[in-house]
Amino acid sequence: MNNKLFRSFIIKYAEIGIKGRNRYLFENALIEHIERALKGCEGDFTVRKTPGRIFLDAGSDFDFDEVVERLQKIFGIVGIAPTLTLEDEGFEVLAKQVVSYFHDMYGDREVTFKVNARRNRKNYPKNSMEINCDLGEAILNACPNRKVDVHRPEIMLEVEIRDHIYVYSEILPGPGGMPVGTGGHGMLLLSGGIDSPVAGWMIAKRGVTIDAVYFHAPPYTSERAKQKVIDLARIISAYTGPIHLHIINFTDIQLRIYEKCPHDELTIIMRRYMMRIAEKLAIDSGALGLITGESIGQVASQTMASLVATNEVCTLPVYRPLIAFDKQDIVEISERIGTYDTSILPYEDCCTIFVAKHPVTKPNVNVIRRHEHNLDAEIEPLLEAAYASDEVVTVGEA
Ligand code: ATP
Ligand code: MG
Repeated sequence: MNNKLFRSFIIKYAEIGIKGRNRYLFENALIEHIERALKGCEGDFTVRKTPGRIFLDAGSDFDFDEVVERLQKIFGIVGIAPTLTLEDEGFEVLAKQVVSYFHDMYGDREVTFKVNARRNRKNYPKNSMEINCDLGEAILNACPNRKVDVHRPEIMLEVEIRDHIYVYSEILPGPGGMPVGTGGHGMLLLSGGIDSPVAGWMIAKRGVTIDAVYFHAPPYTSERAKQKVIDLARIISAYTGPIHLHIINFTDIQLRIYEKCPHDELTIIMRRYMMRIAEKLAIDSGALGLITGESIGQVASQTMASLVATNEVCTLPVYRPLIAFDKQDIVEISERIGTYDTSILPYEDCCTIFVAKHPVTKPNVNVIRRHEHNLDAEIEPLLEAAYASDEVVTVGEA
């Protein structure tokens, strides 16, 4: 593609197109995200909305690849079409411009194409069929290597006659989903692993804004492990917008559990305390659910029986977008969204230090509750201390 040609983009969105009377809310959210994403880019940009279309115009030179890369992280966008924006100077001029566009894009290559004109401005002197035929003919006449194929063309040349005339033929994929902020707010339990960043990304893709909580256990877990989680939050914030990451000191709770509870139940009991703390943070921040990276059977603490035990302590819904995903599928997403290389850095997380050799895979909730009961009186001040340790790191461009 000859990127230098373009000063505009048509932003295509799908699902939000069907939101009926609330559609404008979705479109406005999308526009805000586009404006936010481009703030850090060189160039000045305007985003315009016309019925059924969002246009992005660059008023100066800009870095095409950088702009596209940023747009490709905005949920709600399904396609990005680099577009020529032309003044209406009569059909003869349009035909010349279209022929030269075709040449700039595809040279003399052997290609099949079809012109697909849409006339939103009905006073244009030719109707859509006439525009298709006449532009098609002009393109054909300019080079013998071109053929028209109305059924399966390699190149679909779109011509939209509106306030201006828009010409485009390539659509770069967007991430799909819904604009962040249109689907409520969630609290992600973010560890340094592969799964939870992907889980957060997936929920955000459905329009949910996220905050996150990380439980660290110094000195058993290092500053580098903490920094790794901050880095992961920053990577996903490129998609989700700013994330407030709560960092909670979990050491004393963990030590107390280690001391008082059977070691084969450590992970489950620990996870129950993480969920309790996360739920309080969630409620305080207006979140409507917790999000984890769990997937059935991946480890002992993620069997269905274990999930019953961890789920029991929460009243908010717990969203587990990866629940039925195989590890390999999760890895593929993490590579695609850019978290994988950070996730695999070898810094220990608190769960790997306090793991039992033979963790229960079928915990009995009543037994767990009884053992947890041993902690009750002592755990309250430790929970208070954990809340008090909350260090909030905000990542992502506002
Ligand atoms: P991940 O790859 O996300 O670390 P995992 O396969 O290692 O997941 P577990 O360690 O059993 O799984 O954790 C299950 C889920 O619990 C994680 O996906 C995450 O949502 C949450 N979690 C685990 N450890 C922590 C932690 N230290 N801080 C915050 N959340 C955590
Ligand atoms: Mg983990």
